[in-house]
Amino acid sequence: MRLDKLTWKQAEAAVGEDATVLLPVGSIEQHGPLGPLGTDYIIPEEIARRLADQPGLLVLPALPYGVCPGHLEFPGTIDIGHDAFRAVVVNIALSLMKHGVRKFIFLNGHGGNTAPLGEAGLAVYQNGGLAAIIDWWSLAPQLNPSWLGGHGAGQETSVMMAIKPEWVDKSLYFPAEIRQLSTNLTATHLGTVRFGDGVIRIVREVRDVTTSGAFGPDDPREANAAWGTEMLAGVTDYIQRFIEEFQRIELPPRGAPGADLHGNRQGRFTPRG
Ligand SMILES: [Zn+2]
Repeated sequence: MRLDKLTWKQAEAAVGEDATVLLPVGSIEQHGPLGPLGTDYIIPEEIARRLADQPGLLVLPALPYGVCPGHLEFPGTIDIGHDAFRAVVVNIALSLMKHGVRKFIFLNGHGGNTAPLGEAGLAVYQNGGLAAIIDWWSLAPQLNPSWLGGHGAGQETSVMMAIKPEWVDKSLYFPAEIRQLSTNLTATHLGTVRFGDGVIRIVREVRDVTTSGAFGPDDPREANAAWGTEMLAGVTDYIQRFIEEFQRIELPPRGAPGADLHGNRQGRFTPRG
């Protein structure tokens, strides 16, 4: 069920202890030569749309803005910053917790949001709730090794082609030049390099790592809608099954002794039926 189409009287019946709230979050940020700036929120928004009929699930409008300071050298990128993003997510959760909601799923499309979402999840927990954080692009290759990601590369571009084919124009393609720090330090992602057998974090402006903004395992030129459709279906199916399990978790009663901050440490989160 979508929250934004309800009246407040309908919402009064829909929010509450048994509701699980799904918040899609993303970023407005460069996604290489082919990916639209909205890639990171469009994909979680579409997964959420497909899950909206799940009983007991309340789907919120997507939060399109996120944390992406390293991408600002590319025009069109909007970074609202770590603190603002965390505050928005926490305040969304607290607004709904005021009326009884205790379970949240933050469905995330962007790596820069991961740390503040963890902090928001802890804030929910410390207020007597529980939050799950799903980074869809890193979940995908766990479900199928051929669904491996990158940034603005085959995975994301393919899923965008499956959702909004008219938003991806392959005639706009140009190749990326990947700028290595030395012959022994080769970039494995936007902020990591391989040295021998290990991977080290070295953070640079994204534009100094990849001139197109895209970073593989593959090239966005290889993106196709069929691959995107397959990933979208597989990830959505997994998340649906996860949500069913998440909904079965029984939280300690509100106000019960030891039921809030310390509830979990006492092993009080047990499956319901
Ligand atoms: Zn992305």
